[in-house]
Amino acid sequence: MSEPAPGIFTFEIFQPHFCELLLSEVENFEKWVNTTKFQVIRPSILNKFGVVLDDFGLQTMLDKLMKGFICPLSKALFAEIGGSTLDFHHGFVVEYGTDKDTDLGFHVDDSEVTLNVCLGKQFSGGELYFRGMRCDKHINTKSHPKESFDYFHTPGRAVLHHGRHRHGARATTSGHRVNLILWCRREMVKFKKDCSSWCAECFEEKRKKLLPLDWDETEEVPSRKEKEPAAPPTTGDKWKWGVRK
Ligand SMILES: [Zn+2]
Repeated sequence: MSEPAPGIFTFEIFQPHFCELLLSEVENFEKWVNTTKFQVIRPSILNKFGVVLDDFGLQTMLDKLMKGFICPLSKALFAEIGGSTLDFHHGFVVEYGTDKDTDLGFHVDDSEVTLNVCLGKQFSGGELYFRGMRCDKHINTKSHPKESFDYFHTPGRAVLHHGRHRHGARATTSGHRVNLILWCRREMVKFKKDCSSWCAECFEEKRKKLLPLDWDETEEVPSRKEKEPAAPPTTGDKWKWGVRK
């Protein structure tokens, strides 16, 4: 496993034969949908192509994948959002190509943790671009240069990321790309809602709150112990420690 950018983990997950079997299962389902004119629910409002894998018998397999594989990983990699307590999944495939959806706009997922696996086939383009994790309040804030990361898909290889890691997919410029997406959620267990361990803006807000009042950030930071007054501060003291209102 590697972490090419903070909070983005990539690793080999499926053998080529398994990818082929899964792709043929999806193709069979789509043929049946076309023949019967059955109205299927597409995976998300952003995708006109692709199918929900839970809808045609793969729910148990995907649940085992989440509980047996993603949960132990998330416990270690995403402990701050309760990675070991994931208890619900939404599993689907998305399809991109010149006769399908080509790209996917900038968004966050409706998940705690997302597994994204390229199943094939032959394609060019379609890379994922990431722009940092944000909570709802800060979702539209600027990204910092160090938060910019582009990931190029390889069949059989997975990307695991925080659901609030803002991302999008660039255009698949030729061929046909199919990816399996598993949104893993925690529905039953409530978890503390302190976003500062992963949202860069909440982190910055919290950091600033913990700075002394009248703090000039260009000055060297003194240790809290050195400057903390022994007696309650009197009016006019420069250093008043505490939470900035
Ligand atoms: Zn935030």
